Amino acid sequence: MALTGLQIFKLLPKTNCKKCGMPTCLAFAMALAQKKAKLEDCPFASDEAKAALAEASAPPIGLVKFGKGDYEVQVGQETVMFRHEEKFYNPTVIAVNVSDKLTGDALKQRMEKINSLQFERVGTKIMVKAVAVINDSGSVDTFAQTAQAVHKACSLAMILYSDSPEALAAAAGKVAESVPLLGVARSDSAEAVAKIAKEHNCPVIAEGNSVDELAELTETIKSAGVENIVLTLKGKSLKEQMYGLTKIRALALKKTFRPLGFPTMSCVLKGSAAEQSARAISLICKYSSIVVVETVENWAILPMLTAIMNIFTDPQKPVQVESKVYPIGEVTKDSPVLFTTNFSLTYYTVESDVEASRVPSYIVVIDTEGTSVLTAYSGDKLNEKAVADTMKKHDVESLVNHRKLIIPGYVAVMSGKLEEETGWEIMVGPRESSVLAKYLQEVA
Ligand code: SF4
Repeated sequence: MALTGLQIFKLLPKTNCKKCGMPTCLAFAMALAQKKAKLEDCPFASDEAKAALAEASAPPIGLVKFGKGDYEVQVGQETVMFRHEEKFYNPTVIAVNVSDKLTGDALKQRMEKINSLQFERVGTKIMVKAVAVINDSGSVDTFAQTAQAVHKACSLAMILYSDSPEALAAAAGKVAESVPLLGVARSDSAEAVAKIAKEHNCPVIAEGNSVDELAELTETIKSAGVENIVLTLKGKSLKEQMYGLTKIRALALKKTFRPLGFPTMSCVLKGSAAEQSARAISLICKYSSIVVVETVENWAILPMLTAIMNIFTDPQKPVQVESKVYPIGEVTKDSPVLFTTNFSLTYYTVESDVEASRVPSYIVVIDTEGTSVLTAYSGDKLNEKAVADTMKKHDVESLVNHRKLIIPGYVAVMSGKLEEETGWEIMVGPRESSVLAKYLQEVA
């Protein structure tokens, strides 16, 4: 928990020497509390003061990274219980399991499928970002060989999951360069697993039967020299898991309880693809930093990634696209011209419907501060002047020979004033974007 100005003041020399640039130690302490100064500015700060401030300023939930280069992922460092209080920072990582019982073509096909689990949604690439190799065979050698084969077949961040420290040591030795997340460390194996993690500089998964057991376990792992830990609760029902994960988040954030100040992981390896998708989304919402699933069905993975995308956006900043003219397809001087707003969801919906029409068109995007058509119109962010100014700014007249502008059906009421302001003939398009393709094919 952050220290108050008075608590910091008690740790300072109280000589008022002014070397920090402040008139008094108290003024410096207040500036420190408000994060307007740095402790290094006081050359006389004691080691005790430095340690206390470092401890107080450490994030309540640690950041854990694994994977290598462009495929490194990071989880944790969340600061709030609810998204609307601020925002969630590090999106949940979806991992897909690979059993070490898979061999030959079956292993190859699963890896090809995992590598293909990438999608584009509202202009952003979303994808499965990790692969979890599971030691189902119980064999040390088989686990190590499968880890090596998976590492060769894909670049995604890797999780190595085994009950056996020997198997973990063998597999970690083969793929250490990829910085895998190693697990599991239980009360009877924590020191052995921590030793392997320390040797390869990898983070560790601590697995406990309860939140209390996890708190004890992380202290053991930390005292063995490993600070990067991911927590997981063993074999719980969805309800118990969500309760446990919520308790962990609340204790870490509200009580600054350091033994639980770590990101979390959940496994959803049973049930149909639809059930896995539903369970995973529940765990993404509360509060799993990593979710390992068994399904590789596109239709089951996409909703999980979509949920992550929605939850991990800043609720105070609508996702926007740049205000400009977007040519869709092989446009010509006769191509239709439409306008919409710069709210990402609105723009990409319109864009995909224009693409689907196969009628090359120009979309003029009006800056409405990331709001949709009706919201922008009712808030006067979308009006005839805004449209006319944007068209003028981007010289839309030079792009086409005609002077016809298609407007969203929801703002048909703008037609008269817009015609006066732009001098263009206004054509009222459909209210719903889904009808746009048919509309363009008919009018083009
Ligand atoms: Fe106090 Fe340190 Fe600033 Fe001197 S430099 S006034 S001791 S806080």
